[in-house]
Amino acid sequence: MLGLYLHVPFCSAICNYCNFNRGLFEADLKVRYVDALEVEIVGAGQAGRAGGAGAAADTIYFGGGTPSLLEPDEIARLIAACESAFAIDVDREVTLEANPETVTESRLAAFRAAGVNRLSFGVQSFREDELRRLSRLHSADRARAAVAEARAAGFDNISLDLMMWLPEQQVSHWLESVDQAIALAPEHLSLYLLEVYPNAPLKEEMLRGKWSQAPDDDAAAMYLGAMARLDEAGYEQYEISNVARPRRRSDHNLKYWNDGEWLGFGCGAHSTMDGVRWKNISSTSDYIDQVRRAKSAAVDVRRLTPEERLGDALFTGLRLVDGIDVNAIQTRYGVDVWRRYGPDLEPFIEAGCLRRDGARLHLTRQGMLLAHEVMTVFV
Ligand code: SF4
Repeated sequence: MLGLYLHVPFCSAICNYCNFNRGLFEADLKVRYVDALEVEIVGAGQAGRAGGAGAAADTIYFGGGTPSLLEPDEIARLIAACESAFAIDVDREVTLEANPETVTESRLAAFRAAGVNRLSFGVQSFREDELRRLSRLHSADRARAAVAEARAAGFDNISLDLMMWLPEQQVSHWLESVDQAIALAPEHLSLYLLEVYPNAPLKEEMLRGKWSQAPDDDAAAMYLGAMARLDEAGYEQYEISNVARPRRRSDHNLKYWNDGEWLGFGCGAHSTMDGVRWKNISSTSDYIDQVRRAKSAAVDVRRLTPEERLGDALFTGLRLVDGIDVNAIQTRYGVDVWRRYGPDLEPFIEAGCLRRDGARLHLTRQGMLLAHEVMTVFV
């Protein structure tokens, strides 16, 4: 089934490291944007895109930006738009990305009543000094309170995002945040490595403050140390950066890694369907204008070549702990992975980074540290 992604490009403040498609919250712009989003979704159903109105979907994902800045009734309207344009499965997963400072128990209860059944909180760290260096608006206490409020509002599927390799962060600091996250017993955790982009304000602040990132070996120790603690706490790692309790994996994100199909709505959103990939126009106001004039917001529409589809399937599939099923690749793409890539993969198998288990090819945990090098074999 399809996944539906809805992009919400508004934030209360812009974090110094952020590289996402987002801008500062403006109430008027937000109202016009939600109207446009609704029109785009309903139009996709009417236009018969994705196999005609009524194509089946089982995930709706509000990503951003900060989707929790929308009002619960706006979220309800957008879910209703998805239901009118697509056949949404009864067992749907409806995720809302939320920043801890934007929620209260009553707002969360209203999001739940609107149809959201999974929350993904951008926590990043449980240390105040690290949150300040990242220019985040919340405190560690606010993050803990947000999780408690979500539980009180009835959410039984909560994910927390944490970021490692932060400026001035030591391995012990990072593991402290991981322990605090585990103590909150979320169903799902995503652990990301901070990437400092060349034009990010953080880069300048790091120079001014003489802040540095720990050596590479420490970054590896952070990753392996966190995963060991999460194993011990009963979480299952299912992707390079993601762990979950049993049956609590992110159905939506699995579509990206499992060679699935999804439609993205809103400015800058990406879609992949029937071997065609496209991206919506990035600017929020241009997006609203396009939709208002009943024009397509899609730019960069491209039919993928069979080679690109194969490369993507292998590249993203290898992110999963279960790896790639080479028989399924043979059936779908007519390519014998061993014959074509075997000689290039062999050194990684010998080095203990890759393992071959029957028809499956997967990274070892050690190999996940070198995932990029291994994946370049396929692209
Ligand atoms: S809240 Fe998220 S999307 Fe918004 S500026 Fe910060 S990192 Fe970027």
